[in-house]
Amino acid sequence: KVELWDISKSYDKQANVLNGINLSIEKGEFFVLVGPSGSGKSTLLRMIAGLEEITGGTLKIADQVVNHLRPKDRNLSMVFQNYALYPHLTVEQNILFGLRAKKVNKQEQQERLKKATAMMGLTDLLKRKPRELSGGQRQRVALARSVVSDAPLCLMDEPLSNLDAKLRAHMRIEVRRLQKKLGLTMIYVTHDQVEAMTMGDRIMVLNDGKIQQVGDPITLYNEPANLFVASFIGSPK
Ligand code: ATP
Ligand code: MG
Repeated sequence: KVELWDISKSYDKQANVLNGINLSIEKGEFFVLVGPSGSGKSTLLRMIAGLEEITGGTLKIADQVVNHLRPKDRNLSMVFQNYALYPHLTVEQNILFGLRAKKVNKQEQQERLKKATAMMGLTDLLKRKPRELSGGQRQRVALARSVVSDAPLCLMDEPLSNLDAKLRAHMRIEVRRLQKKLGLTMIYVTHDQVEAMTMGDRIMVLNDGKIQQVGDPITLYNEPANLFVASFIGSPK
């Protein structure tokens, strides 16, 4: 369970980019964050990850206040827009990097690697370096790295944005299947309405740093809270 209590954020004492965010995300839930560019989605995700200082409010993960915990102590995995891979490591080393620290034995590592790379279509690329990959392949390496970690909470920021339409449709299903199978709690940022509506158990619509509505896809479509939600979701109202 992830709880946000009156979370706000300002960068360098400028005006708030997030205001009064109250939210509770259940264990095992696939929670989607949508909103226009600049609405604060990445900022919110980065605060949950511990990559960005929380300037107001309380963040709890699994009943523990984590405001001041380092990213690696929060027991989560992440796939971000810039999918920072280690340039000097191979695909295989990049995927397994996080497991070293966790003392997962070699055999278990290889099994997870095999499964993750087969799923992401990376089996033939294991010895390559990131600079020898396309953008979409790099993105899939980042997804595979998140798959092999067994963190119960997974944060993804536009993880499929560099893939072509066909692969994206396939990966939506794979990510969703995996999340269900492992019982992961997922917080997933996208600005693709189809992605939001087809993948999310619940969706949160953000605009200008404020929550517009939180609900399941059908409720958002049938009962949008305001015109902004209606036009964003594309419902007839
Ligand atoms: P996109 O869909 O384009 O990725 P987003 O919803 O993820 O947008 P954020 O990246 O969270 O938006 O940005 C929210 C606001 O915070 C924007 O106005 C942005 O300019 C501002 N912002 C983001 N990062 C910083 C930073 N490091 N310093 C100052 N302002 C920032
Ligand atoms: Mg963003």
